Amino acid sequence: MNKYLQHFNPARSNTQPKRRVTAMSHTDTLKLTATQTALDRAAALLAEGQTVAFPTETVYGLGADARSGPAVARIYAAKGRPAFNPLITHLPDADMAKRHVAWTDTADELAAAFWPGPLTLVLPLRPGHGIASLVTAGLDTLAVRVPAHPTARKLLSTFGGPLAAPSANLSGRISATAASHVLKDLNGRIAAVIDDGPCPVGLESTILGLNGEQVTLLRPGGVSREDIETVLGRPLQDRDHSDVLTAPGQMQSHYAPSAAVRLNASSARDGEVLLGFGQMGCDFNLSTDADLAEAAANLFEFLHQVDRTGRPIAIAPIPATGLGVAINDRLRRAAAPRHL
Ligand code: AMP
Ligand code: MG
Repeated sequence: MNKYLQHFNPARSNTQPKRRVTAMSHTDTLKLTATQTALDRAAALLAEGQTVAFPTETVYGLGADARSGPAVARIYAAKGRPAFNPLITHLPDADMAKRHVAWTDTADELAAAFWPGPLTLVLPLRPGHGIASLVTAGLDTLAVRVPAHPTARKLLSTFGGPLAAPSANLSGRISATAASHVLKDLNGRIAAVIDDGPCPVGLESTILGLNGEQVTLLRPGGVSREDIETVLGRPLQDRDHSDVLTAPGQMQSHYAPSAAVRLNASSARDGEVLLGFGQMGCDFNLSTDADLAEAAANLFEFLHQVDRTGRPIAIAPIPATGLGVAINDRLRRAAAPRHL
């Protein structure tokens, strides 16, 4: 048992066997301040796949290692989100962002002007990006941001890697702009929260989609359209609500595989590839242990893999509890009639 885990969960002793830690297993959430010692502890928790809430200039984020599917699954489990949306990845600086996305001159101009700050850039993932597919909900683009809050920056540089982080509140509730809001919703559901007072902006980041030189305003936020247009020297494109590329998750069948999908299948019919769950004979198994967090972590990668077989797809039943709710939502979208 790691010493940091012991600290926030004193009920466990050294002699206990190592157990899988899920989002629900914390008896209490560790409350940290913004000292370097505390940030070292937070970074160590993140490195072992735990979730840590931290202040940014917009809202408190619930962070997890963006390279680890199981860690990102814990974000969803803690928030009780009924669906998977692509998450913003937070980085210590632009150079770190360039490791994961295909950088452009326009990205460089925008980053130079507004980073660190409340601006998110959506760019194509680059080969060998290392980002878990649960972060992008299976898309081939990644939303990246370098936050300005000094504590967020210190945590990111101490951790030294990408942190996926949506707002640190239960799904459907108001975004947390103070550590007390985070604890009200998530105490016992996340490993730690770093308390560093209220968030100064309290407004979400502006999100821009970058496609070559074309820049589209995907969501208004903390940086104004006018300021961005002044830097670019040209107007921003408006989001086309009918374009699935700029409206991820909006359409029922957006993430649909190309072949037909049959849900709640107990076995494969002739020619079908079977995506299983739990102990069963199948071609791909989301989790042989019937562990929903593991299934969530594998979901998008496996959907791509079964799709690549080109065969019709049968999918085993997944319990509709906890993370299973979001998994089933995603599978229903995959099986929905196509509108594309
Ligand atoms: P939140 O984390 O609550 O601020 O929300 C993240 C926002 O970023 C959502 O509106 C997502 O749809 C959007 N987003 C994240 N990743 C992408 C992406 N790859 N492409 C387009 N939008 C994205
Ligand atoms: Mg939110």
